[in-house]
Amino acid sequence: MDEVSEIRARLPIEELVGQYCQLKKKGRTFVTLCPFHNDTHPSLTVSPDKGIAYCFACRTGGDIFSFYQAIEKVDFPQALKDLAERTGVELQDRSPKATLEKDEKARLRACLTEAHRFFQEQLHSSQQAQDYLKKRQIASELIETFTLGYAPDSFSDTYQHLLKQGFSRSEILAAGLGVQKEIREERIYDRFRNRLVFPIFDQRGDLVAFGGRTIGEDDAKYINSSDGPLYSKSLVLFNLQRAKEAARESKRLILVEGYFDVLACHRVGAANVVAVSGTALTEQHVKLLKRYAETVVLCLDQDRAGRDAAERAFLLCAKEGVQVSCVTIEEKDPDEAMKSDPEKLRKTLESGDVPYLDLVLREIGATDLASAPAKHDALRRLLPLLDALPTAVERQHYVARAAAVFATTEAALAQDLDYFTRQNIAPVVSREAAVRPKNGDVFTSMELTLGLFLLYPKLRPLLKELIPPEEGFAAELYGAIKEAPEDAAVTMESLAVDPKWKERVAILQLYCEHHGFGEWAETLAVREIRKNCFQANKEMLTLKQKELSSRILEAHRAGKTLDEAQLTTQYQQVLKLARMAM
Ligand SMILES: [Zn+2]
Repeated sequence: MDEVSEIRARLPIEELVGQYCQLKKKGRTFVTLCPFHNDTHPSLTVSPDKGIAYCFACRTGGDIFSFYQAIEKVDFPQALKDLAERTGVELQDRSPKATLEKDEKARLRACLTEAHRFFQEQLHSSQQAQDYLKKRQIASELIETFTLGYAPDSFSDTYQHLLKQGFSRSEILAAGLGVQKEIREERIYDRFRNRLVFPIFDQRGDLVAFGGRTIGEDDAKYINSSDGPLYSKSLVLFNLQRAKEAARESKRLILVEGYFDVLACHRVGAANVVAVSGTALTEQHVKLLKRYAETVVLCLDQDRAGRDAAERAFLLCAKEGVQVSCVTIEEKDPDEAMKSDPEKLRKTLESGDVPYLDLVLREIGATDLASAPAKHDALRRLLPLLDALPTAVERQHYVARAAAVFATTEAALAQDLDYFTRQNIAPVVSREAAVRPKNGDVFTSMELTLGLFLLYPKLRPLLKELIPPEEGFAAELYGAIKEAPEDAAVTMESLAVDPKWKERVAILQLYCEHHGFGEWAETLAVREIRKNCFQANKEMLTLKQKELSSRILEAHRAGKTLDEAQLTTQYQQVLKLARMAM
């Protein structure tokens, strides 16, 4: 058995889906609220027989791999890796380079894990670190939850410890734990010295780096591991591995500025909180956030830098079609707010947010807009934000609101916005993201008709009423149904389709059963199949006519007379068929 089938055999679909959704038995299948769209009554059907979980409302799902890819937002290789690990199936990686890289990364991970263990141990034994934690009012549960550590006040304790554990000099450097001051200098210094250490995990929960806060007099308050094979600052968000679980229901992630803010929010029960570490928010960060959240709630420092960061976050999120809202707190940051009134912070984070643009309009409204220069400055702030809105409806909504704030007409403001947009030859954001339709995979009439033949194998003689499809899934399935031994029930096993189509066949079967197509009396089934054959033929012939007429035109333009004549004959045949079919 190959790896994929082995994993499939070991992990029943209902077991996997059950880890994410509450399943309810319904006949031979299970149903549940679909986790992929805003579902109000259970739309996700889970069929243990077919090994399929599929939502016909939003057309998402499939076998265990497709379901896992959709719910964890990973690609197939990653899904294969994760599910292999979960089921204990050993994957064979055949390329020697991949094996080498894998080995190298595994070594670096082990090196980080050992350093993490060392830092945690040091935290317990250092009086200085304990005093610092007390001063910052970091509760011991938080230290446990976030597995904080302490890097000792020494130039090479960590380095020496890792060497003793068998890690090489180059591994320690590549793991981002050492600093080589000069390229030719032999000596390696510890990157983290006399610092409280925050382990940083990627969204899958693998340890990739550390962030360190000095507890002494160091000029650099915060430092991070350097980027390396495992870590890239612009791709990782602190605490995302925990926050993504907490955001599953609400689809909201709170974005704060620092490690202590994350701890503070967590302390008051807001587990859906993340922070950037060692860099400003990037486009890749937003793409990552978008996998888990529809709304990003900004809870940034209440100063000029925080305000700029909020604007940047809004522009990046708007580009990806992610909603942005803001909470305002009276204190400098969430950490301070937690210390002064935890209950208030909890409430603010839970439901005190307002859409970012509402907040901006409120701020603008609070200034004196009487003079023209004041209006000019306010517009300079507002227009890029309005321009970034992904849909015309939202723009119109805020143009109307802003016109009231500026005590002007909507038309005048719309004109300014239009002028601004045209001035920006390279617009800050594209509007595509939010309006692009979801790429659906609805079944064609042809496919549905073939699905009916799967449900009523005895009616296969009617297959001759169907014009054979020429390519793709339909052609494959048509061939398989035609080839299936007569008088035998058509099962997935007896059906000779290419393995790559099996999942789609199963979804098609499930679709037909789901819609009750399998419960017809024979006379009704005959009528329905005939009707569907007719519809499928009609669609196919229309398509064929279109295709042929454009090819005839092409041949004509290129002066290929022979081709043109041949195509025209084909066209007439199709036309004759079409007339017969009507
Ligand atoms: Zn759905």
